Formats: sequence, structure tokens, C-alpha cells
Amino acid sequence: MTKSGNLSIHTENIFPIIKKFLYSHQEVFLRELVSNAQDATQKLRTLSAKGEIPGELGDLTIEIRIDEAAKTLTISDYGIGMTAGEVEEYINQIAFSSAEQFLEKYKDTASQIIGHFGLGFYSAFMVANKVELVTQSWQPGAAAVHWTCEGSTTFEMQPGTRARRGTDIILHINDDSDEYLKSWRIEEVLRKYCRFLPIPVKFNDQVINDTEPAWIKKPGELTDQDYKNFYQKLYPMQEPPLFWIHLNVDYPFTLTGILYFPRIKPNVEIKKNSIQLYSNQVFITDNVEDIVPDYLGLLQGVIDSPDIPLNVSRSYLQTDAAVRKISSHISRKVADKLSELFKLDRKEYEQKWESIGVFVKYGMVRDNAFYDRVKDACLLYNLKQEFYTIEEYKEKVKATQTDKNEKVVFLYVTDADEQHSYIQAAQKRGYDVLLLDGILDMHLLQYLDHQLSDVSFARVDSATLDKLIDKGVEKSSLLNEEEEAYLKDKYQAVLAHPGAQVECEPLGEDELPVLITRPEHMRRLLDMNRYGLLGGGELPENYTVVINSAHPLARKILLQSDGEGKDNLIRHSYELALLSQGMLTGDRLTGFIQRDLAYMA
Ligand code: ADP
Repeated sequence: MTKSGNLSIHTENIFPIIKKFLYSHQEVFLRELVSNAQDATQKLRTLSAKGEIPGELGDLTIEIRIDEAAKTLTISDYGIGMTAGEVEEYINQIAFSSAEQFLEKYKDTASQIIGHFGLGFYSAFMVANKVELVTQSWQPGAAAVHWTCEGSTTFEMQPGTRARRGTDIILHINDDSDEYLKSWRIEEVLRKYCRFLPIPVKFNDQVINDTEPAWIKKPGELTDQDYKNFYQKLYPMQEPPLFWIHLNVDYPFTLTGILYFPRIKPNVEIKKNSIQLYSNQVFITDNVEDIVPDYLGLLQGVIDSPDIPLNVSRSYLQTDAAVRKISSHISRKVADKLSELFKLDRKEYEQKWESIGVFVKYGMVRDNAFYDRVKDACLLYNLKQEFYTIEEYKEKVKATQTDKNEKVVFLYVTDADEQHSYIQAAQKRGYDVLLLDGILDMHLLQYLDHQLSDVSFARVDSATLDKLIDKGVEKSSLLNEEEEAYLKDKYQAVLAHPGAQVECEPLGEDELPVLITRPEHMRRLLDMNRYGLLGGGELPENYTVVINSAHPLARKILLQSDGEGKDNLIRHSYELALLSQGMLTGDRLTGFIQRDLAYMA
């Protein structure tokens, strides 16, 4: 008996629409059909486990075959199959109307979200002009059914022949899609989407999937080597990971997965997009931007959750409650893991800090909740290469580096060589100096400055030490106010530098006669600009020239009569300050040395 009929849809012909909208993600048709085959096979197993199907189930491997001459691609499973009534219901009615609804709803955005969402069975028409379905239900006495549809709204159904229960989907590949008649292409698509499916999938006599990937096992069943091997499988060319987290949640959402912490080279561009998202072992995407916070995008590995809605737009995902819960669960796990590693083996943690620090810092500045969880595992290191937590460091320097406002001042440098003379001066006073030379350190210190009410950060060369850690002790100047004003004007005139601001301050007679400092906020801007974090562009060179009014030279210049000798002395004392900071170069340096020699002669 042959039956033909009209598919219950309202759109004139949805097939051209399917092709048009989904063109860029054509390949997902194979994922959809293989997933259906997986589902049908798993349903069969479930029925068998319940005792509803007697006897052995036989080989349940799903097979994919190309017949290049006939221009067909066939997906065969040995799952539950369908009765004629089920084909009518699931294929003719439900599948069709859901395909139609999908297209109606996402007309404008379909091509963006198709990667996340399959049209199911009808996505076959993206690549085929005719689809045949030969199926036999597991139910006793069910006859095989042969269904055919030629990419229009009419179909044909007649009795079929099959040796075993299950379903064959035969795609007659259209001329535009002949790549899907090529072995290499099918293999590529299968490896991408079907690599970790639970039922074996065979193509060209080879099973292409690992049916029991590490993430679906229990942590207790896996050795460190198993985790490393799985990592190698995912990222063949990479160095072994630093450590990993096995995720396993079943309430209030289902989530499994393994997240790896890769080794990160500091100050090298950070690579993102390497977490793969699966839904019941079917690959969905490696773009998890909307699902995990961006700093976790630095991690690698797999997350598998059937609870992440895949059929919605990206902007919706960010506000979806389930997704938010998943996201915060993952960051909590990551934070807990970091704290645990820190407590368990601090030495090792310190050794890995270069890489770990990138996650910690990035996460802290992005997410207050993450900051609260990891702040005690955030390390700072000083120029002696000693590591401290923020609290430990505060304790360490509190006695010497607390200013008159009760703030503990954390002195730092970004470059130990360049800021050498300032470091020496600070160390001479018994102060400790941190090294903040990482790409994220400037962001981190801005953030900590804001978070920690009793701490402030100051770069050693951003002002004189007496100002950086102002203890309210007055040093005596050799000059009165009038004399200071005169000297400031004189310097300003001789230097003739628009970015330089001249000040007088009694630094002490052992200090340099003139010192150059840069205001902290200016300094930070420059540093960020150097790392390209402000969008480039030159920032003006601004600094302060501090005349040491406690140094005898200040008096000497003051008393000297106007003329070239006086101007030279001013210039020389200023250049000496530049020299001490490595800011004197080229012709200017040569001139300085010649003048210096002349003085000595
Ligand atoms: P979905 O899989 O999202 O339900 P599909 O359009 O892919 O949507 O399939 C519709 C229905 O057709 C399925 O739910 C299933 O009942 C049935 N079906 C599809 N493929 C098979 C198959 N290979 N074996 C058995 N039933 C199938």
C-alpha cells in the first residue's frame, strides 16, 4: 500500500528557506542525523534494560556510508526504529512543524544560531534534494516503512524492506553540496561533532569516536596520566597542562566536564576560545563566550551540559538563569581549586605563579565574587624574589611603611633596571619594593587600590620618598620661601620644558641635588599605554623636577651671579637627575659628559 500526502505546513516551501538561512552551517546536518541515530539507539538500550525487549541487542554501531556513484550518503542505526504511525507523527507532523516554527521565529538570526541549534531531521534538506528513510520499529510484528520526500511539501510512504530493526536515512546529495560525498569531508565533520558520542560510529570501516571520554567518568576512576592523555587528545600540540578541575554537578543543573589550566607565557597575547561545549557528548561549539566569564576563557577543556539552552539568541543566553548559575558555579570551582592548590603545596603554587597569576589577576579585576574567593591566594613578589599574599605583605611592611594617614604604602617598580636609583634610595631607608611587571599588574593595582581601604600603591619614582610615605616629619630647608620661588623660576626658565613642573622640597643633604618624579596617575597611564591597553597614541611626557632645598648646591646656585655659568650649573644638576633615571641619552649625554669633564679640569 502506498500512501502519499501533504506535509502539514503553511509555508509554501520551506526547503529553499532552510538552505538560504543555514548555508554557512550546512555541516551540522550530519550532527543532527547522527544525534538522532544515537538517541534511537540509547532508547533501545533503555527499553532492553527495563526488560521490554527480550534477547540480545546485537551490534549497535552506527554506520555512515558514501556511495559516490549513486551520490548518496547513508546514516544507518540499529535503534528503536519507527512504525508507520510514528513516521507520520514524528517526521511528517512534529519534525516538519518544528522546523517551520524555528524558521519563522529566527528568520533574521537563524544563521547565527544554527551552530547552536539543529533543525533536526529536516536539516538534511540543506544538502540533499531527496531524502529517503527506511525504518523498522523494534515493536513485535512492525512492518518496515519506506518514506521519501523530494524537498517539497509532498511525501510518499510505502512498505519497505529491512533485515533488522533500526533506521537508514539516505540523502541524495545535491550538486552544490557534493563535498559531502567526499570521505575527507565526512570524516572532518564527524571528528568535529561526533568525536565523543556514546554509541560507536563507524565510517570507512573505522570507529571514529571515543565513546567514554574522560569527563563522563568519575574522578576516582582516573589517574593523573588519564587526565593528561585526554588533554593531549584535545590539544595535540600543547605542553602538558598545569592542573585541572573535574566538574560534576547534577543539581540544580546538569554539568560535567574537565577544565584544564594551560601554561601561559607572561606578556604574550592570551589565547581564548579553547573550551569546547558539548550537550550529551555532542559537540556544539567552541565559542563559550556567553556561558563562562571571559577570564575563564583562558582555560581549556570540555563542558557538557544538556541544560544550556542552545536554541536561543546570544544576548538571551547572558541573562538566562541556568546559564548564570552554571557560570558562577564554574568560577567558584576554579577559585576553590586555586585556593586548595595554594594551601596544599605553596612552593609548587609559587613556581606556577607566572601562569596561575594570569587567571587570578584577570579574574579578580573582572569579578568581585571571584576576588573574594581567591584574594588570599593572590601573590605579590618583591625584588628579592620573595612571594607574599596581600595580607602577609601588609604585615611585613606595616611597621616601616605606614604613613601619617595610617595607610600602608606598597612601593613598587615596573622595571628593576630602569628604576634602579629610586630602588636604592628606598632600600636605604629600609623600605621593601615590589616588582609589578606583568601585563595585568597595572589593572590589578588599580583594582586593589580601590578594594583595600588601608593600602595604597606607589611607584618608587612617582614622588620623593618623603611624599610617597608621608610620615608628617618636616625636614629643614636651607632656603626661605622667597629664595625657593626665585630658584623655581630660574630652573623653569633655563629648562624651558613645557611638560616639566618645578618644585622645591628638602630631601636631605645626602640625597641628589635634583630629582625627577612622575605623578602616580600619569605613570599608570603611561604604563598602560606601553602595553597597548589604552588604544595607543603618544601621551605627553609630564614630570616634576624637584630641587632638593636641603642640598648645599641649591644655596650655591642661589648665590651665584646670573650668567652662563649659573645656567650651566642648573642644566647640569637637572641632567644629573635625568642621568640617574636613565633618561639622558644621545647628544645630550655626550654634552653632559663633556661639561662634567670641563668642571673637573
Ligand atoms: P528531535 O530529534 O529534536 O526530536 P528531529 O526532527 O531530529 O527532532 O526528529 C523528530 C523525531 O523523529 C525524533 O524525536 C524521533 O522520535 C524521530 N526520529 C528521528 N530520527 C530517528 C531515528 N534515526 N530513529 C528513530 N526515530 C527517529
